[in-house]
Amino acid sequence: MHELAHIHFADADASYEDARYAIFGVPYDSTTSFRPGTRFGPRAIREISLNFESYEPSTGIDFCEVPVTDLGDLGVSRLPEDLVGQVTDVTIDIVGDGKVPVMLGGEHTATVGAVRAVAPEVYVVCDAHLDLRDELDGTPYSHGCVTRRVLETVEDVIIIGARSGDAEQFAVATEETQLYTADAVRERGITAVLAEVLGEIGERKAYLSIDADAIDCCFTPGLGTPEPFGMTPLDIREVVRTLAPHVAGFDYVEVAPFDSGQTAAVAAQMVREFIARHWVAGR
Ligand code: MN
Ligand code: MN
Repeated sequence: MHELAHIHFADADASYEDARYAIFGVPYDSTTSFRPGTRFGPRAIREISLNFESYEPSTGIDFCEVPVTDLGDLGVSRLPEDLVGQVTDVTIDIVGDGKVPVMLGGEHTATVGAVRAVAPEVYVVCDAHLDLRDELDGTPYSHGCVTRRVLETVEDVIIIGARSGDAEQFAVATEETQLYTADAVRERGITAVLAEVLGEIGERKAYLSIDADAIDCCFTPGLGTPEPFGMTPLDIREVVRTLAPHVAGFDYVEVAPFDSGQTAAVAAQMVREFIARHWVAGR
């Protein structure tokens, strides 16, 4: 049998059995409130990942030596509550087999399922939006409700980079989460913010979710709900580098690749950095 071409994340060549990291895509954007297109995110992230050298200079590791597998994309259901269930199921399998889930979005809704499966004590999210609506467009599983749903199951929620939400959501954020707005990150610097976040996490199990729109849309415009005056790609890289050793599950979501590839490029590099930093810390 000839080996047939199959787009998968670069160097994610391990068998499922041997893998320590399991990448999977969730090409879903059915609850998207503004511009659709994040369903094409996983494919764009995989394609551009092939652009990068397998050697990762900041950690000195070569991805060819890290056991990573790419399971491909979920065949997604139409209804958001079904989608969340699907993501929960596949993530439970991955975690149950002793692997670290690395999810590519797709809209943020999928994160609810992954978090349910990983069951962290601390949830850290970088997002322009608070995502704290109780319901949006008739569903509690809209991508505008993700952090609210997570809040119902996780002890502590930390939001970094937010700059959009209504007054009610900001009230919920102030009362029930640890909120670092995009302005706070700019004023205090990401290093100081992360030192505090690490203290908050302590020895507890954490999950890290990056919504691509946390980054200022002037850097990465491939977004369904773009917001200016946000974090920089370097801020996000610092978040991933610092927190990767402490988290049990990771996702990079909301990439809508109708730009020149910069949003997917940042996403692919952050997936690589996450895996590299987590792997080096665990060795
Ligand atoms: Mn979001
Ligand atoms: Mn967002």
